[in-house]
Amino acid sequence: MATLKSLNFDNSYLQLPEQLFQRLSPTPLQKPFLIGFNPDVAQLLDIDPCTVNPKEIASFLGGEKVLPGSEPLAMKYTGHQFGVYNPELGDGRGLLLGEVVNKKGERWDLHLKGAGKTAYSRFGDGRAVLRSSIREYLVSEAMHGLGIPTTRALSLVGSEEIAMRERMMEPCATVLRVTQCHIRFGHFEHLYHTRQHDELKTLADYCLERYFPELIGAEQPYLAMYQEVAKRSAALVAKWQAYGFVHAVLNTDNMSLIGETFDYGPYSFMDRYKPEYVSNGNDHQGRYAFANQPSIVQWNLSCLGQALLPLIERDGVMAVLDTYPNHYKQAELSEFRKRLGLQRQESEDEELIRQLLTLFAQQQVDMNRFFRRLSDFDGSDQAVASLMELIALPTAISDWLLAYERRLKKEIASFPIRRAQMRKVNPEYILRNYMAEEAIRAAAEGDFSVVHNLLMLLRNPTEDNDEFKRFSMSPPDWANGICLTCSS
Ligand code: AMP
Ligand code: MG
Repeated sequence: MATLKSLNFDNSYLQLPEQLFQRLSPTPLQKPFLIGFNPDVAQLLDIDPCTVNPKEIASFLGGEKVLPGSEPLAMKYTGHQFGVYNPELGDGRGLLLGEVVNKKGERWDLHLKGAGKTAYSRFGDGRAVLRSSIREYLVSEAMHGLGIPTTRALSLVGSEEIAMRERMMEPCATVLRVTQCHIRFGHFEHLYHTRQHDELKTLADYCLERYFPELIGAEQPYLAMYQEVAKRSAALVAKWQAYGFVHAVLNTDNMSLIGETFDYGPYSFMDRYKPEYVSNGNDHQGRYAFANQPSIVQWNLSCLGQALLPLIERDGVMAVLDTYPNHYKQAELSEFRKRLGLQRQESEDEELIRQLLTLFAQQQVDMNRFFRRLSDFDGSDQAVASLMELIALPTAISDWLLAYERRLKKEIASFPIRRAQMRKVNPEYILRNYMAEEAIRAAAEGDFSVVHNLLMLLRNPTEDNDEFKRFSMSPPDWANGICLTCSS
């Protein structure tokens, strides 16, 4: 087992063209202290969680010291923000500390968010505040617990340093983000829009080798990679739609090449199903509203496709974009079939799902609580009543339930088996905004127990937990008043 000081670094990103990074060390935070450490993520890096020393982590991941073997750098990328191309982007407050190769041969990027100013900071201070760092630390684990591809977070480090956000003073923090891939659509956009086509090819070859080695032998490897990215992105957004997740800042620089949820900002899991839900007070046009996410991801893929034009024929790009709606539709069907406990594929399923989503929207149903209760649905009056409790106009669900029961007759699995399968995909706990907000408010008073408890709870969100039962109930009224913005 490794310790933090003996990680097996091998930093391949440094071999890429120098237009893609700036080498620099973190700017130390004032008086850093460890708040959270995720043992599951430690194990990905072969770190024995029992050997960790909080002071040591705080000094390495608070920017005071550089880990042996780490060669920190800020990545250069660009991207489309709210539909407008911005050539000035890049890691403005995060540094890639390096890549760790574990015993299994897996290569994990370590990225320290909140590590100070870089060449790409523009007007920013290079810092991340504790509030948004807590949200990223928690949601990374929550998404993983739900089986939704995501970046992970190893640590949360607080400090006595202060930053200004929306005229308020807030304490700064860092999160150590861990994922196999920090390459964004925006990396390719940068090289395309600056007409650096040789470097673009070098980057594409690097990505093929590192992330899609099975495609190197394809007839058209770059096209095959683009197709695979489109498929994974479609599968990812289908999961978001199935769990009521709103990313909120779906700019192309926040799109991961390997189809993970990436760069958390003012995200939400909706307490009530509203297709037009916008989770970012700064998104006045509602560009990133919940219902827009599948088509926005397609739009983002078209930006990536354009950036790959020096390597792929235009017809190839268009063909991939044309297949996207079908990939999305199939992925969405598959997610909802699982949530409904349907193993077989029947032609009527699409309509059954569409009707349910229409009902959710009309009645503003808490979809995640609904699916959890549906897992226990055995057709009894009691089970019907329990579902109706979640619908403003209870009788509105009657016809749908009859259709669902008819559909269940085509399934082979018995009720107990279906119930067990459904409970595995229909969580009891989901990271609602008010839960993160409780953790943030307690943390502001120096109490980090809510952060710890939520991390533990959300690791296994489908397991009942008597101690935290209240988090599976209806959110408190004040949850409605929470306003999220880009400020982080
Ligand atoms: P985001 O909205 O977090 O995806 O960030 C968009 C861009 O702004 C990226 O290039 C970030 O690195 C940069 N950025 C965000 N916050 C800061 C900050 N506090 N200081 C410097 N750069 C930042
Ligand atoms: Mg970003």
